[in-house]
Amino acid sequence: MSIAQLRKSLEIGDISSLEIVEDYINRIDQVDKHLHSYLNLTFERARSDAKKIDNLRLEGKKLPPLAGVPIAIKDNLCTKNITTTCSSKMLQNFVPPYESTVTHRLWKAGAILLGKTNLDEFAMGSSTETSAFGTTFNPWDISRVPGGSSGGSAAAVSSGLCMAALGSDTGGSIRQPASFCGVVGLKPTYGRVSRWGLIAFASSLDQVGPFGNSVSDVAEILQVISGNDPLDSTCLNNPVPNYSEQLSKPIAGMRIGLISQCFNQPGLSDEVKHSVMQAADHLASLGAELIDIECPCFNDGIATYYVIAPSEASANLARYDGVKYGYRSGEYSSLSDMMSRSRSEAFGKEVKRRILIGTYALSAGYVDAYYKKAQKVRTLIRRDFDNAFKSVDVLLTPTSPTTAFKLGAHDNDPLAMYLSDLLTIPANLAGLPAISLPCGFDSSGLPIGLQLIGNVLEESAILQVAHQYEQSAEVSKKRPKGQFIQ
Ligand code: GLN
Repeated sequence: MSIAQLRKSLEIGDISSLEIVEDYINRIDQVDKHLHSYLNLTFERARSDAKKIDNLRLEGKKLPPLAGVPIAIKDNLCTKNITTTCSSKMLQNFVPPYESTVTHRLWKAGAILLGKTNLDEFAMGSSTETSAFGTTFNPWDISRVPGGSSGGSAAAVSSGLCMAALGSDTGGSIRQPASFCGVVGLKPTYGRVSRWGLIAFASSLDQVGPFGNSVSDVAEILQVISGNDPLDSTCLNNPVPNYSEQLSKPIAGMRIGLISQCFNQPGLSDEVKHSVMQAADHLASLGAELIDIECPCFNDGIATYYVIAPSEASANLARYDGVKYGYRSGEYSSLSDMMSRSRSEAFGKEVKRRILIGTYALSAGYVDAYYKKAQKVRTLIRRDFDNAFKSVDVLLTPTSPTTAFKLGAHDNDPLAMYLSDLLTIPANLAGLPAISLPCGFDSSGLPIGLQLIGNVLEESAILQVAHQYEQSAEVSKKRPKGQFIQ
């Protein structure tokens, strides 16, 4: 059921909000022991919120836009009085005294929290394997990763354990898991959505965004969470357009750019390439014009990101010192010994690796050679996009070079893991909106994702192209049976 269908059914009294919630709770009870997409479940609260929605209807009151929509939230978004761990031992017992702006807006709009979902520790990773609380499994094939870092949210949406979810995307963490799990995921323009209450990883790149089973569901969630927030000084003031209204507009005459650097990647799988090219042809058959585009600095994204993101992370994670909040080691001989033991015991390997890289890149002797140089390349990447958008409306690429890989495949090779974000990172560096949606399946029956990147604040354009593609290509009809797919 889509969000729009749920709204209609609730309004006419076909079904109650409580019945819907009980359905999801049942399915979570049956399925999530195999997937581990949730870290923490909030069923009592869900039931009581559902009753409130049902009472509203009985009283004849108008239902808010997301009334009764059962939602999962990535566990790096603060939820008041509900443990928020960031999948780290460091925050294992952290109960935020405040609510993030995005979740606050969801509850105000009538959405219902089912629970908090698993992620890579502090959102650092591409497979959800770095979580301190165990990995999440891909619902299409549990021997594979769901992608990351928002793997729990993507797996929960694709296996029917929630209707929609929120994730965060610093270098691809919404789009890559959406692609691996066969759902839709959108990273908004930097500043479109408030970061207040999102536990910071790399503040100049982080954005919160929605996962859903369809483009229209994603548009509805985006509508509610977008817009200015006085609590986040990087949040934009621009008015929020009506996203759902734009979806049905035909795309005839729209110019879609194919970035040539993306299609000549040595690591790009033939099946992914073929499927994405077919999707491009399909868009052309709907009247869009395909244009080849050069973005010469596109492939410098990874190197740039792995200087900037760890640098910002090393500063953001300095606050976890065993004093202000977070884990404190039980044994120490001095203040600095306490801090160093606490950090050493509570952070995982990948988080430590990032802190070390970032601290090094920001150190007095190297800041010009690494950090400042990376900032300059970041500007060049942004300029490539600015030039591209002079001749096209939307850019099209694969979301990830491969489909979901096997658990443990990159255990001893962090660089191979980093490369899985090759195609998503440039949009973060340039602050652009981008969406991933399913466009086909490989020979193992695993979903393939198509990425559409828009110009600044052009969420409407990528949603429109994505929706038109989804409605006419009907990829979902071709879906093979996944292990835990409904
Ligand atoms: N996989 C990338 C990383 O490890 C991106 C993570 C993210 O977007 N949060 O940093």
